[in-house]
Amino acid sequence: MRILVSNDDGIYSEGLWTLAEALSEVGEVIVCAPDREQSAVGTAVTLHYPLRMKQVEPKVNGIRTYSVEGTPADSVILGLKLISGDGVDLIVSGINEGVNLGNDVYISGTLGAAIQGHFYGIRSIAISTALYQGKVRFEAAAKIVRLLAIGCREGNLPNKTLLNVNTPYLPINRIEGVELTRPGRRTYHDSIEKGYDGKRDYYWIVRGEPIWEQREGTDIWAIQNKRISITPLPVSLSGERTDKLKEICASVFSELHTEAASNPS
Ligand code: MN
Repeated sequence: MRILVSNDDGIYSEGLWTLAEALSEVGEVIVCAPDREQSAVGTAVTLHYPLRMKQVEPKVNGIRTYSVEGTPADSVILGLKLISGDGVDLIVSGINEGVNLGNDVYISGTLGAAIQGHFYGIRSIAISTALYQGKVRFEAAAKIVRLLAIGCREGNLPNKTLLNVNTPYLPINRIEGVELTRPGRRTYHDSIEKGYDGKRDYYWIVRGEPIWEQREGTDIWAIQNKRISITPLPVSLSGERTDKLKEICASVFSELHTEAASNPS
């Protein structure tokens, strides 16, 4: 199985390499990611100027790695068209430092890469993990995405699947479930800081604290209740597909716990 890995935190981020390493146990990994942070660019595709891409040294041995002067979606397009041909079975974007919940789906660059993969008809997963006081822990996200990739390799991930996965800031043995969720409502109190650059006024959009919807069954509810959230994004939510994904939630949670019991942290 061949897996294309990208992100929006940039090619040198720890989350990207934690992800690439975890997935290299499942299949051949190719990394193609923006050369710098591209948070909140969503699904943007660069059409008005040329892009550069170069092969760079991987941070994990043996992984072909390409750095793109563009957006996450640009990276996926170049990765698929120039590097891996038609042979990609799964696209995974992340591990993002910070959750992407509710309305974040529409602006997240992490989601942008996964959505672009989905546009090309490839199963795609966005994976993000919660920050707590600026700190991040990747182990649950790395493990759940590895289990989902194994599920994909074994044919258990339905065709055209597009998943938004988020993990709480917890060690694996304190995670209480894996939930199939729907996007909740999460918006921000934005404010504008005005400044002057010596020639002109400028305006800086400052994101305040998010406003959370607490309703049961949403991605936000899952994270706040110490669970991993798997949100199938609405591409064509047939009953069959949802049933299959529900089975996956139960099976990955039992495996998560089995491994955690033998490996407490
Ligand atoms: Mn990011």
